[in-house]
Order: sequence, then structure tokens, then C-alpha cells
Amino acid sequence: VRILAYESSCDETSTAVIKNGREIESLIVATQIKSHQRFGGVVPEVASRHHIEVISQITKEALSEAEVSWQDIDAIAVTSGPGLVGALLIGVSAAKAASMATGLPLIGVDHIMGHIMAAQLKDEIEYPALALQVSGGHTEIVLMKDPIHFEIIGDTRDDAAGEAYDKIGRVLGVNYPAGKTIDQWAHKGKDTFNFPRAMMEDDDYDFSFSGLKSAFINTCHHADQIHQELDKYDLAASFQAAVVDVLAYKTIRAIKAYKPKTFILGGGVAANQGLRERMAGEIEKLADKPKVILPELKLCGDNAAMIGAAAYNLYQAGKFADLSLNADPSMELPYAETMLN
Ligand code: ATP
Ligand code: MG
Ligand code: FE
Repeated sequence: VRILAYESSCDETSTAVIKNGREIESLIVATQIKSHQRFGGVVPEVASRHHIEVISQITKEALSEAEVSWQDIDAIAVTSGPGLVGALLIGVSAAKAASMATGLPLIGVDHIMGHIMAAQLKDEIEYPALALQVSGGHTEIVLMKDPIHFEIIGDTRDDAAGEAYDKIGRVLGVNYPAGKTIDQWAHKGKDTFNFPRAMMEDDDYDFSFSGLKSAFINTCHHADQIHQELDKYDLAASFQAAVVDVLAYKTIRAIKAYKPKTFILGGGVAANQGLRERMAGEIEKLADKPKVILPELKLCGDNAAMIGAAAYNLYQAGKFADLSLNADPSMELPYAETMLN
């Protein structure tokens, strides 16, 4: 089964050809980051316009890089939510047009299901599985019964982990998106500030990062007022230690409680070196340890390959969309059956 996949939920326009949900035959990612940087974040109208400009071209590129033509494609998949509505609509329209022109079946994919399925492009997922999904808009612990049935058992009460990285990065003068740079700085510093670790004692799997963000910003502002220079590497290391501590603590507790066969790290923040090392290290110490899948670094951020991987599972389950498929900016896991048929 060969799937042509589209992703345009935020600031990356991407197309890919994926074979059997496991093999990347081609992957094109057109990033718009430079256009948004001067605004310090993603500007929705700018995002939509860039998506429109490149989507036809990168559809052709995905086919030619995979050395296939439309006749070799079995289905067309697209991220239908969550994300920016105007951005999503470009991918959804392109996929619907392609489906109508070719008669190929259409599959609507949840962006978060896609992030998690980046793992399937690296290794076989054994179920039940458990994922820590950490990205720019989501921080969730997701239980996976099988490839298409998901349950969120933990969520953030306020900011997402990636969002917190981007916000504190701004205070340190780091360009959006700041996660990667803060991660690099963190490895050059020490955890000297002892920022708060929220909700560690709570008997649930939820997170909160706004207190940490405020503590960080207050520390910087206070130092500024008294003209004190703080070490940016120590600040980054202290922030990252607090984020990784709470993510690891709650996730390990969930793994002990639900005993999944596979643990998956997903989303843009899954590229974080500190988090990858910590999760792998903590799981290694467990008596009853699940298999660990850390997706390839280039597949942690938004891309169409992960959408093609998730779409294959929906294809196998017969979950197709029709031409009434619409963008759903606030789509939520688990999949609603109504959305799938
Ligand atoms: P969502 O997937 O929740 O809808 P999104 O698509 O905007 O949101 P992603 O593209 O998956 O988010 O991830 C981008 C986020 O990942 C940004 O906030 C970025 O700062 C963060 N990020 C990227 N690399 C790293 C890293 N090494 N460490 C920490 N954060 C990182
Ligand atoms: Mg992005
Ligand atoms: Fe994403």
C-alpha cells in the first residue's frame, strides 16, 4: 500500500510517499520559519499564503523523488486537524482535489496521531503502547490500545512544553522556535536555579508549565532590575531540568500503572536530547520495561511522513473520509468515529 500524504497544520508544508506505513519513499518539507521569526511566532495568514504557494510544487516533488506516478498511489492522506484552520484548509483542499481528480480514496489524519506514528517509521510498535506526546501545542500522555484507538490519560493544564520553551526563549533573546537552542545551551550549564516542578505530588498524569515559565521570567526580570548578569547556560539547564523532571516522573508513573509493551516519545520536543536520554535511562531501570521508540530527529517536527504512517493504519482499518472532509482546528484524540467515516 502506497500513500501520498499532506501536512500543512502550522508552519511547515510537507508531502511524502509512504509504503506500508513503514517505509519513506520520499519526504519534502518546506519550512516557513524565517517568515515568522520577525513576529516571534507563527502568523496564521502568512502561514496559509506560504502553504498555497508551495503545495502543488511539493506534490510533484514527492512523486518524483519517490520515482512513482499517480497510478502507483493507493490513497491520499491529509492532516485535517488540529492546527491553524486556514493552514489546515490548504492541505485538505489539495488532498480533496487530488482525490477527486484521481478517484483515489481519501484519509483524514489527526496531527497528534501522526506525531506519535513517527515511531512506526523507525520500529514496530507493540500494543498496548503508551506515548508521551510533547509539542508546540500539546503535552499529553496517550494510551494506545491498537494503532487507531487512543486515550489521553494526562494533559497539560496550561502551556504545552514546546510553548514554554518558546516563551522563555524569547526572554533570552532566542529566535522562535527556541527549543533546539535552549536544549543546546542546557548541555553547557548546570541546574543552579532550582525552578519549581509543578504537580509532582498530584495523584494524576497531568502537567502544568505556566508556574515554571513565570518563575523563569521573574528571575530574569529581577536580575535585570538590579543589573545582575545571569548565566544563560545555567538558566537553560535549570529550565530544562525542571521540564524533564516532571515529564519523566509522570510518564514513568503511567508506565508502571499501565504496563505498555512499547513506549513512544512523540512531537517536536521529542527531539530534546535531555528528554530522550532521561526517558531511555529511566525505563532501562524498570523491572518490567517496555520497548522504547525514540523517533528520528528529523521526524519529530511536523512532516507528512508521520501522517502517511498513521494513514496506513486507518487504511488497514477501512477508515476513509469522503469529499465532505473539513479542517477541524480543535480536533482531539481519541478519534471520534463520526470523523472517520
Ligand atoms: P502541535 O504538534 O502540538 O500541534 P506544533 O506542530 O506547532 O504543535 P511541533 O512542530 O510538533 O509543534 O513542535 C515544535 C515545538 O518543538 C516548538 O515549540 C519547538 O521549540 C519545540 N522543539 C523543537 N526542538 C526542540 C528541542 N530540542 N528541545 C525542546 N523543544 C524543542
Ligand atoms: Mg512547526
Ligand atoms: Fe506538530
